[in-house]
Amino acid sequence: MSGKVTKKVSVYLETYGCSANQSHSEVMLGLLRDKGCHITKNPEKADILILNTCIVKEPTEKRIMHRIKKLRENFPKKSMIIAGCMPVGEYRLLRSIEPYASFLGPKNSSKIFKCLKGTLEGKKVEYLEGRGVYCDSKYRLNPYINIVEISEGCLGNCSYCIVRKAKGRLKSYPLSDILRDIKKSLKSGCREIWLTSQDCGCYGSDKDNSLTKLLREVTKIRGDFRVRLGMSNPDHIKPVLSDLIDIYRDKRMYKFLHLPVQSGSDRVLRDMNRHYVTKDFREIVAVFRQKLPIVRIWTDVIVGFPGETEKDFKETIKLIKETKPDFVNVSKFGIRPGTGAERMEQVSRETINKRSRQISDLVDRICLERNKSWIGKECRVLVTERGLKKGQYRGRNQAYKPVIIKTEKDILGKFVTVKVTGARKTHLKGILVNLQD
Ligand code: SF4
Repeated sequence: MSGKVTKKVSVYLETYGCSANQSHSEVMLGLLRDKGCHITKNPEKADILILNTCIVKEPTEKRIMHRIKKLRENFPKKSMIIAGCMPVGEYRLLRSIEPYASFLGPKNSSKIFKCLKGTLEGKKVEYLEGRGVYCDSKYRLNPYINIVEISEGCLGNCSYCIVRKAKGRLKSYPLSDILRDIKKSLKSGCREIWLTSQDCGCYGSDKDNSLTKLLREVTKIRGDFRVRLGMSNPDHIKPVLSDLIDIYRDKRMYKFLHLPVQSGSDRVLRDMNRHYVTKDFREIVAVFRQKLPIVRIWTDVIVGFPGETEKDFKETIKLIKETKPDFVNVSKFGIRPGTGAERMEQVSRETINKRSRQISDLVDRICLERNKSWIGKECRVLVTERGLKKGQYRGRNQAYKPVIIKTEKDILGKFVTVKVTGARKTHLKGILVNLQD
């Protein structure tokens, strides 16, 4: 693991977790590319391996731990950097399986080259603390999509969450940096902007700024592009609801709202230390649906949170049946070390699995039903990916619904008009009506 950084260094990077982590990976690769490193998709060809990790759920953490052991087994002499939330949130556990790798915490992506250089010189480098620096030098994994992390950390302290331990308290990035990054990316061919964070809703609360101010500035930028607003907690959305609806009317805004509710029981929400009640969630969904009927609502639910009774669970089922979200990310509760929920009385695994199956069946039915309502309609789709089969493309309509299109024409990176001919629970199928670009 020794030797100076003299030759063109080949870097392999693997990413796990949320879109904010994807953004960190693009920043790290962008900075290394700018320093002359070569990016390879093949770990065998790499001089150094970088894993950008996530600890939000136990199964993901276990999978990453297994991967680290496997890579070390396959490449015992290769230099390794472990980045992301795991070095900060699970330091000792990680060191117990990987005593040699360098560690780069989620707020230190900008130090990747310094970390790489030290690691290749045989040092065990650790950058774990500090505050993030905004960086717009990115190596995009999709040339049409710019993933913009607007802030790090959050204002919450949810009793089940370990992310807070790794990402800390809210730090909003300067509006000017964000706008400059977006404008630069649009000039370089991006057409879709993801605004992401642990909680986009509280953006600017630590500064004299706000999410609505940010969105108003973004929608002032000239050009034909789309903006996807990332996860925002109900307690930060409710106070700005009418402003947000007004901003969402702009055609650049995907009519997409990711609003994690986590439980349909106010008693459980209190135990989770969430700062809203189910009535707030219902109200926000109802107003968005009334004002923007095509809006796509995406939410998250945890089943089997400690102390969740059958009655609580029935309230979650009732809330999902009433609000009919287009998608629900169903998570089985899992203990995260050092969290309040770890010390609470746990629900049996058997009950958690049963409830998870029950709610997932309901969610699948609702997803399909909501997607079927698009059949026969025409929609404007931004195509950002090739599909799995030849001549197949994947795009998003104005409600950020995934649409699969089959055509001989090259429509990548373009806006097209599509007539929806079919629906699955995960996506729509459509035929090309015309090219718009
Ligand atoms: S808002 Fe809650 S769940 Fe989200 S990152 Fe913060 S502490 Fe975790």
